[in-house]
Amino acid sequence: MEITAIYPGTFDPVTSGHLDIIDRAARLYSKVIVAVAVNSNKSPLFDVTQRVKLLEEVTDIFENVSIIGFDNLLVDCAKQQGASVILRGLRAISDFEYEFQLAGMNRRLSPGLETVFLTPAEQYEFISSSMIKEIARLGGDVSSFVPKIVQEHLIEKFNRG
Ligand code: ADP
Repeated sequence: MEITAIYPGTFDPVTSGHLDIIDRAARLYSKVIVAVAVNSNKSPLFDVTQRVKLLEEVTDIFENVSIIGFDNLLVDCAKQQGASVILRGLRAISDFEYEFQLAGMNRRLSPGLETVFLTPAEQYEFISSSMIKEIARLGGDVSSFVPKIVQEHLIEKFNRG
């Protein structure tokens, strides 16, 4: 059966943890759409165009992965894209409460759309975009947490800022 999965998030910026989830998903589903939330209320470091572009570059090797930006309700975006699965990554117990609530709400909004959780490899479990930004802002080495191109963009961003 052909199943399209949508993987929504802020991806500010994409990390090796996100990539690990994308890699697993690309092997499970016929098509994976990474949906980058504009999320203007979070005031992201990278604007949505930059976040989409970085994701496009780092997922270039996957033939069945595509990247979009979205600014509407996730369940509506999923429908427009023909996705029947919402993918989320689960790192720790601390993610669970929020993710459980989100999945429940999305089920109420769109009963046929299933939320599926994937867990990353152990070495990525503690990576979060917000922590990466904080480390990079303070001049720390983030090379083992993000793809090289993301590291370069972070350095450029904070050197300029
Ligand atoms: P959001 O603002 O929607 O949480 P993120 O970009 O922070 O957006 O995360 C997108 C999804 O990827 C979420 O489901 C999040 O739990 C998951 N995720 C984030 N970091 C990791 C990681 N290191 N390993 C696995 N999943 C992750």
